[in-house]
Amino acid sequence: MAQTSLRPIQKVLCANRGEIAIRVFRACNELGIRTVAIYSDEDRTHEHRHKADEAYRVGHGKRPVEAYLGIEEILDVAVRAGVDAIHPGYGFLSENALFAEACERRGIRFIGPSSAVVRTMGDKVAAKQLAKQVGVPTVPGTTLEGDDTRVLAQAREFFAEHGGPVLVKAAHGGGGRGMRVVREEKDLEAALASARSEAQSAFGSSAVFLEKFLEKVRHIEVQLLGDLHGNLVHLHERDCSVQRRHQKVIEIAPAPNLSPALKHAICDAAVRLAREAGYSSAGTAEFLVSDDHFYFIECNARLQVEHTVTEQVTGVDLVQSQIRIAEGYALNAPEVGIPSQESLQPRGYAVQLRVTTEDPSNNFMPDAGIITAWRAATGFGIRLDGSNGYTNAHISPYYDSMLVKVIAYAPTFQGAVMKGQRALREFRIRGVKTNLPFLENVLRHPAFQKGETYTRFIDETPELFH
Ligand code: ADP
Repeated sequence: MAQTSLRPIQKVLCANRGEIAIRVFRACNELGIRTVAIYSDEDRTHEHRHKADEAYRVGHGKRPVEAYLGIEEILDVAVRAGVDAIHPGYGFLSENALFAEACERRGIRFIGPSSAVVRTMGDKVAAKQLAKQVGVPTVPGTTLEGDDTRVLAQAREFFAEHGGPVLVKAAHGGGGRGMRVVREEKDLEAALASARSEAQSAFGSSAVFLEKFLEKVRHIEVQLLGDLHGNLVHLHERDCSVQRRHQKVIEIAPAPNLSPALKHAICDAAVRLAREAGYSSAGTAEFLVSDDHFYFIECNARLQVEHTVTEQVTGVDLVQSQIRIAEGYALNAPEVGIPSQESLQPRGYAVQLRVTTEDPSNNFMPDAGIITAWRAATGFGIRLDGSNGYTNAHISPYYDSMLVKVIAYAPTFQGAVMKGQRALREFRIRGVKTNLPFLENVLRHPAFQKGETYTRFIDETPELFH
């Protein structure tokens, strides 16, 4: 590719906080790119602020989460700091097409797919439609349109035809919110009302749709990476079946106990879908798997929390790849280093454990306060991506309760599980409650060790709580 079409990035702002902001700053640092942090009043002592070359306070006088959602204010900071590009991380504005567009308008590169792709993928109904167009199987379901009465009538019709259980899902949802399982028709009305109001307040849209609720499924997702020249590859799959309330707790790459034929078919479907969407940068296509069948559920047009396990087994730094792609490099340029799909063969296994400040014995109630003692794991094959993991750190009640991601990597799945257990045992965290003992119980469980978990494994395995 001609050098002239490259637009180097000198300075990046991360429109996020905590561990993902630090992850982005580290990637930039290694590329010689200057970094800019933003922080809320609540985060004035937070570690991510100090890991950047410059830091600016945002959202003064607003609620803590709003600080990271103020599009115009963040862009003003970006312009003032003279950045070329913004990395949105995950959550907050990362899947907000208006933000991607606003960046484009103000001449700042949005490190992610185009705003058009962000918009399509932000709508699960549109994404499923795209999947159908390219022959990728989706979970049977129906769209629900119109006012409350019409929505209810359409939902009843679907229920009568297909039977239960069904799942009400928010069209613009994420993080497992705006979802309701309905087993009996009489519960439809209340479930629709509560899903719609939750979706409205969480995502600014009350649009919902219905899917058959699949009882015993695995969550398998495919990491995608595309450049701005139409080249696109997959970086194989992850198994994210260990979930609580439809939110991931442990992720594994590659998926253990999944036939090569099924893996191949799922990865192939993901690539077809992404090509059709005109995908670039990093993204994920998510599927549910039941026996030999797989069903597309959604695409995430951003970096995911669990991108780390893919990095460990492929050797590709996904954040640096995103930056290089935004600069205009093709996948096969030495700066990205992916000469072909075939060059991406996963080696070994990686398991990511999300250590949270939650109390498993009290329905995973988030805990906050001051860390009074901190000893972290280290050693061969252990990677920690976190923030505020030190004595005297203040853990805020206002943000996500994830404290540190422990990533264990070994040549075999069994080895990675043993390493993960060893790492968990090395941790000592005092002052706030954590889910460390709970994670150890999951890793010790025979079903986990055989790669036989499914999305309701935690809910249906009470012994994990002892
Ligand atoms: P979100 O965007 O909120 O994360 P997803 O559509 O990605 O929502 O689904 C999250 C999780 O919810 C899945 O991993 C799975 O556990 C569960 N889920 C979603 N759709 C279905 C379905 N049709 N049947 C059973 N479980 C589902």
